[in-house]
Amino acid sequence: MHPTRVVVLGAGIVGAACARELAVAGLDVTVLDRGGPASGTTSHGEGNILVSDKVPGPELELVLLSRRLWPEVLDAVAEHAAPTSPSPSCAEWDPKGGIVVATTDDGADGLTRLAAAQRAAGVRAEPMGSREVRAAEPFLTERHTAAVYYPDDAQVQPAGAAMVLLGDALAHGAVLRRGHEVVGAVTRGGRLVAVRTTRGTVGGDVFVNAAGPWSGGLSVRLGAPVDVRPRRGEILVTTPLPPTVFHKVYDADYVGAVGSGDTGLQTSAVVEATRGGSVLLGSSRRHAGFDDRLRPEVLSAIAATALRLFPALADVPVMRAYGGFRPYVADHLPVIGPDPRLPGLWHATGHEGAGIGLSVGTARLLRELLLDERPSLDPAPFRVNRPAVWGEPATADGTEPAGPDAGTVTDTGAGTTGEGSAAAGSTAPDVPRPGTAPHPTGTSQAPPPTEEQP
Ligand SMILES: Cc1cc2nc3c(=O)[nH]c(=O)nc-3n(C[C@H](O)[C@H](O)[C@H](O)COP(=O)(O)OP(=O)(O)OC[C@H]3O[C@@H](n4cnc5c(N)ncnc54)[C@H](O)[C@@H]3O)c2cc1C
Repeated sequence: MHPTRVVVLGAGIVGAACARELAVAGLDVTVLDRGGPASGTTSHGEGNILVSDKVPGPELELVLLSRRLWPEVLDAVAEHAAPTSPSPSCAEWDPKGGIVVATTDDGADGLTRLAAAQRAAGVRAEPMGSREVRAAEPFLTERHTAAVYYPDDAQVQPAGAAMVLLGDALAHGAVLRRGHEVVGAVTRGGRLVAVRTTRGTVGGDVFVNAAGPWSGGLSVRLGAPVDVRPRRGEILVTTPLPPTVFHKVYDADYVGAVGSGDTGLQTSAVVEATRGGSVLLGSSRRHAGFDDRLRPEVLSAIAATALRLFPALADVPVMRAYGGFRPYVADHLPVIGPDPRLPGLWHATGHEGAGIGLSVGTARLLRELLLDERPSLDPAPFRVNRPAVWGEPATADGTEPAGPDAGTVTDTGAGTTGEGSAAAGSTAPDVPRPGTAPHPTGTSQAPPPTEEQP
C-alpha cells in the first residue's frame, strides 16, 4: 500500500520540490522547518543549473532530468497558479547558457576531453573560437586557451524558486509548519511513525529528511545517521553594473574543485550577472564546520581568481559578501531513497553545490520510488546504504570532526546553529551521542529511538 501522509523535514529548495511533487501526486504533505522556507543554504548560494560541470555518470543523468523538468515545472505552476502563490516569475528562470574557459594548456586539454565525454553522454558542448568568445563575452580575458559553450546551462534565483515550488505545494493542499525543529523520533514496531519537534509530535507514514547540510545532525537525532557535512562557500556581490557578463562563465578548474574532497580552501572563478545587474563572483570551498564567519583571505582569493577571467571588474565596487554551507557527501552524490535501517525514513539530501539545479529531478525520483513507479533513471547510485554515506562517523550535529580549520563544533546534540536551546535538548532524550556512527557494513550501531506509543 502506498503511503498517504508524508512529512518533509526541511523547507529548503529540495524539501520544497519534494513537497510539490508529492502534493501534486495527491499525497497528504506536511512540511516542517525550524525556521522559515528557504532560510538555510537555499538563500545562501547561487542558482545555477549546470550540466557543464558534471562528468558523465549518475549526477549528470540527474541534472539532465532536472534540466528537462525545470521549465516544465515552472510552466505547470504558471498554469495552475493560485492567486495567493508566488508568481512563477519569482524563480527568475534564465536559460542563459554557460561558457567554460581554460587559461592554461593543461586546462585546455582537460576541458576538451571533458567536453568530448559529455557530448558522448548527450550533453550539448560546443567548442568556441576566439572570435565567438569575444562576441559572446566582450569583457572576458583574451588570455584563454580554450572555451566551450553549454547552451543548456541555466539559472534561477534560488530562494525565489524555492518559494514558487513551495507555494505550488501549498496550493495542492500541503501544509507548512514553521518554527518546528525536529528533535527526535517516535517508532512503533521498529517503524518511524512520528517526529518529535520543539512544538509537539507530528505523525505520518513517511518522513523525508531534506535538512540540507543539517541532514547529518538530524539523521543522528532520528537514530539512522547519514554522513552529510557542511562545506562552506562564499560569494562576492558587486553593485549593479551596465551589462558586462552575459552567460554563466567559469574557469575550467572549477570542475576539479567541485569533485575534490580536499578539506582546505579552494577557490575557482565562477562569474555571472543577476537580473538586477549585480555580478556574483564565486566561489570558495572549504570544510569549516558550521563556522559562518566571513574570512578576508577567502574573499580576496575569490576576487583574485574572478579578475583573472574578467580583468575589467577590477574597479567595480563590491557591495557585500555572503556564504553558506553546501550539504557535502564524500563521494559527491546526493542521497535519495529509503533508509533500510528505519522503515518510514527517507532521505533527499547531500546535493552539495548543485542542490538548486538537482532539486526538481530529486523530487521526481523520490516520488517514483515512493509510489513504486518506473524510475526516470537508475536510483542505485543515490541509495542510502553506500560506503560514503554510512562509512564515516558523523558528529551529532553533522559537522566535521574538529580539524585545524574547524569552527564551533558541538557535541551536545542540541542543535547545529547555536539555536539548540535547553528546551530542544530536554525534549530530545533519544539523541545518539558522537561515536555512535553507522558501521561500515551498513549495520547501524546507533541506539535506536525509544520505542514509544505516539
Ligand atoms: C556559495 C554557494 C553557492 C552555491 N551555488 C549553487 C549553484 O549555483 N547551483 C546549485 O544548484 N546549488 C548551489 N549551491 C548549493 C545549494 O545552495 C544547496 O545544494 C541547496 O540549497 C541545498 O538545499 P536543501 O533544501 O537541501 O538545504 P537547505 O536550503 O539548507 O534547507 C534545509 C532546511 O532544513 C531546515 N532544518 C535543518 N535542521 C532542521 C531540523 N532539525 N528541524 C527542522 N528543520 C530543519 C533548515 O532550517 C533549512 O530551511 C551553492 C551553495 C553555496 C553555499
